[in-house]
Amino acid sequence: MAVLDQLTSQEAMALENKYGAQNYHPLPVVLTKGEGVFVWDAEGKKYYDFLSAYSSLNQGHCHPKIVDALTTQAQRLTLTSRAFYNDKLGKYEKFATEFFGFDKLLPINSGAEAVETALKVCRKWAYEVKGIDINKAQIIVCENNFHGRTTTIISFSNDPVARKNFGPFTDGFLKIEYDNLEALEDALENNPNVAGFLVEPIQGEAGVYVPSDGYLSAAKALCEKHNVLFIADEVQTGVARTGRLLASCGNCSCIDKNCSGTPEVKPDILILGKALSGGVYPVSAVLANNEIMNVIRPGNHGSTFGGNPIAAAVAIASLEVVRDEKLAHNADYLGEIFRGELNNYILDSKLIKLVRGKGLLNAIVLNDDENSDTAWNICLKLRDNGLLAKPTHGNMIRFAPPLVMTEAQLRDCVAIILKTLAEFE
Ligand SMILES: *Cc1c(COP(=O)(O)O)cnc(C)c1O
Repeated sequence: MAVLDQLTSQEAMALENKYGAQNYHPLPVVLTKGEGVFVWDAEGKKYYDFLSAYSSLNQGHCHPKIVDALTTQAQRLTLTSRAFYNDKLGKYEKFATEFFGFDKLLPINSGAEAVETALKVCRKWAYEVKGIDINKAQIIVCENNFHGRTTTIISFSNDPVARKNFGPFTDGFLKIEYDNLEALEDALENNPNVAGFLVEPIQGEAGVYVPSDGYLSAAKALCEKHNVLFIADEVQTGVARTGRLLASCGNCSCIDKNCSGTPEVKPDILILGKALSGGVYPVSAVLANNEIMNVIRPGNHGSTFGGNPIAAAVAIASLEVVRDEKLAHNADYLGEIFRGELNNYILDSKLIKLVRGKGLLNAIVLNDDENSDTAWNICLKLRDNGLLAKPTHGNMIRFAPPLVMTEAQLRDCVAIILKTLAEFE
């Protein structure tokens, strides 16, 4: 079998199932091509992508400007390691720090690595700046969080599937209820060892759980009062997904002139990944101001590929697309239409309990329990009807299309979704 032979969908799935570790349960569809909001399977059937690789493809599939940055840089210089300087990294660091309003950026590859980086920065700051006794630092996290899959990160997850038989776990985390300010206050009160509060501005994997209005800014104020770093994991919510450049946007004017919504908070540490690269390359980053980031010295942290010139070129292009195509504004506008249409449908639906989200990060919750297979079956039917989405739990489906979608395309998608749901009423 030559590498370039065209496989049927059945053949491609059989290969993955036989030779690949079974760490995912994909929807049975085999994609071979993508362009903008569309993907095509091995038999040539066309679909709307309504997941965007978990919000990595905000700029759409194979955006020509980002692909051009990738291929141009790939023919010139791909990797130097940080043993040497390269001519793209500094440019990217300047561009991205100005874009998001921070002094410094630490470049890394995956979302989980960026979360690990933020935790290390926070701990080092705790010992060297805040003055916490050595090895006593604690970081507050939220129940039902999702921050990735490393051993330290699963140590503070409460997903049994992610944790079971992976112990022993890393110490130093305190878990509180999400969207509960009293719980945060209790955890901070009389606990001088707290160094940071790690939070998703909207809990994505948990089922697009949007906190109450004012939660983030009140949480940030509590953190300030106790000299604790507010660490925003915007790997999924960031880069225009929720209708603003950042879901915790505290600096809208300098970021995106078309950014809508009220500024809420500016994190002390910002974690980005996924759409930072427009889905063409693994790129993630941690941003902070000098008082915090300067605790990191040579040898403290790193990665062979982190900050490579391809990643730098791709990330600049990705952010330029977000700015030039006003994707935050589009996400905000289309998100209102999407939730409006679904809310109308819900009025006389027995199947759907609610729709929630911000911008184009939304989920529907079914009148069913967590372990049901209804959401999966709906996703199979959506696939047959030409739209790809995935359940986040047995009773929830996340809807997160590329942000380059037009209003006509969105309305077409809404029609597919409503027609499909009606088949399950
Ligand atoms: C996806 C995600 C991560 C992990 O990113 P990977 O690139 O898969 O390691 C971390 N935090 C949040 C909020 C995410 O959605």
